[in-house]
Amino acid sequence: MTEARLREQICTFARSLFERGLTPGSSGNISARLPEGGWLMTPTDASMGFLDPARISKLDTAGHLVSGDKPTKEIPLHTALYDTRHGAGAVVHLHSTHSVAVSMLPEIDPQDVLPPLTPYYLMRVGQTALVPYHRPGDPAVATAIRGLAGKYSAVLLANHGPVVAGKSLEAAVYAMEELEETAKLFLLLRGLNPRALSSAQIADLSATFNLDLPVAHQHGDDHG
Ligand code: ZN
Repeated sequence: MTEARLREQICTFARSLFERGLTPGSSGNISARLPEGGWLMTPTDASMGFLDPARISKLDTAGHLVSGDKPTKEIPLHTALYDTRHGAGAVVHLHSTHSVAVSMLPEIDPQDVLPPLTPYYLMRVGQTALVPYHRPGDPAVATAIRGLAGKYSAVLLANHGPVVAGKSLEAAVYAMEELEETAKLFLLLRGLNPRALSSAQIADLSATFNLDLPVAHQHGDDHG
């Protein structure tokens, strides 16, 4: 993947996410690791729907701006995942409605926010951790993500939105979409006692697709 191609890809995915209403206004940001070191990041106060590939922020390996517009203020969310999540090539952060809604529900488990409703949630996302609310820009958010020690590729910031890392930008975007869809299903099914995947079904997926799930599933069978 050349830098020019990666710039185009960031703008294309960002526009697609914006146009589908997955992050409003100038919210949301994307970063991707450059093959020769350093990062590309979406600029601060820029709408994901109208990014210019030439104005994407380029940072060196130390995180200093090399070219382009001033980068997103939410850089610490991204670096916390790159530093702890082995093999992360891209990070996507959105203010997507259903995930934000789920982050405020009192009954969710901070170590495993969503039940195992579909195989693709498990295969693309695995499990999602919840980080308590902090004011945007508060370094405590990055500290909390680092505290998860890279066990999760998906983290939900309470009353704010999800952050997802992937091996590639495509993988991170697809995982983010799967997380948002699962949050939507969870809200649609709330109070209806849905049948989630059973422990045996999860074990089968885990063995077949070599999944690395941080928390052992116990609640799958409860709904059967
Ligand atoms: Zn945000």
